[in-house]
Amino acid sequence: MIYLDHNATTPLHPRVLEAMLPYLRERWGNPSSPHRVGHQARTAVEHARGRIAEHLACAPAELVFCASGTEADNLALRGVAHALRARGDHIVTSAIEHHAVLHTCRALEAGGLRVTYLPVSPAGLVEPRALEASLDAGTTLVSVMHANNETGVLQPLEEIAAITRRRGVVLHTDAVQTAGKLPLRLAELGADLVTLSAHKLYGPKGAAALYVREGTPLSPVTTGGAQERGLRAGTEDVAAIVGFAEAVALACEDLAHEGARLRALRDRLERELVAAVPGTRIHGALAPRVPNTASLGFPGVDGESVVLGLDLQGICASTGSACSTGEPEPSHVLRAMGCSPREAQGAVRLSLGRETREEDVAAVVRALADTVERLRRISSA
Ligand code: PLP
Repeated sequence: MIYLDHNATTPLHPRVLEAMLPYLRERWGNPSSPHRVGHQARTAVEHARGRIAEHLACAPAELVFCASGTEADNLALRGVAHALRARGDHIVTSAIEHHAVLHTCRALEAGGLRVTYLPVSPAGLVEPRALEASLDAGTTLVSVMHANNETGVLQPLEEIAAITRRRGVVLHTDAVQTAGKLPLRLAELGADLVTLSAHKLYGPKGAAALYVREGTPLSPVTTGGAQERGLRAGTEDVAAIVGFAEAVALACEDLAHEGARLRALRDRLERELVAAVPGTRIHGALAPRVPNTASLGFPGVDGESVVLGLDLQGICASTGSACSTGEPEPSHVLRAMGCSPREAQGAVRLSLGRETREEDVAAVVRALADTVERLRRISSA
């Protein structure tokens, strides 16, 4: 099997599993319990928080553990919207956000808030001047993702942060697809709120975090216990949090080397596909991108048929976001970048990872060329 869907999820790294096992077996305490079993669990959670904070350059108290990136996005958006409701009623986001952000914005709109969905350029970039022009006296929050999950395109976050800082607006960024792929120093990123998710960086599902810069107004969205400084009620998943910290440490150990290796493999894959499959298009190629992602377009074929054809040959790819699988609508990201519905329907995403090797590239190029040619023959017959 060749797995090229690392933007959907990554395999658990053996070192992460090792770190987690004691907390699934003998150290099963509730971190809020007042006895030694509880203290052991609390120590593990706080140790994990400290490790993540150290690797990602923020204060431990600025990390709120959640169960998923989706939950952290919800906390950021709903939490700021609620905390600043008396000050304003307007949120600015982009048309290419993950559904965790877009669907939350739709829900907030249904509750009476105003939301501006910024367009992107054909390269997939938000235009900072357009963003600034969209702010009004009622704007409380801007949410623009760091890297897009379908194309890998990186947004000009520094420029955006300079604007929101100047205008006194809270900035959230969803960095689920950059953590573990690029060096990330949270306190210097410019955003007040940053979403991270463990299962995209060889950690377990069930652990994520929202970085909350000290002093950022935020209301909880779950009610219950006082865990996570009252911002996220619910007993912590100790094993998953311990695994999350191990995964972050692991990613930071060889980030530069692994990033360069993946970029070289991804670039070779794209070059060889362009040469082997007539009409191949690379979405977002003109913008800065994370090193592991290739969003490809093959005119005349349906992306879903390509993905099925690859699966039959032992290659796991996707048409875009795993969360959108089964949706009849073509990718909202590619549509926002100016692709026609047919073009967007033809998209295939290949996202490389730690286990991807040189020989996989040749095998994938061969399989894709065969599959696309066969599908084109069938559709023209
Ligand atoms: N944001 C982005 C950019 C993502 O790619 C994903 C997952 O695909 C999420 C949020 C949701 O994260 P989770 O799967 O941890 O809920």
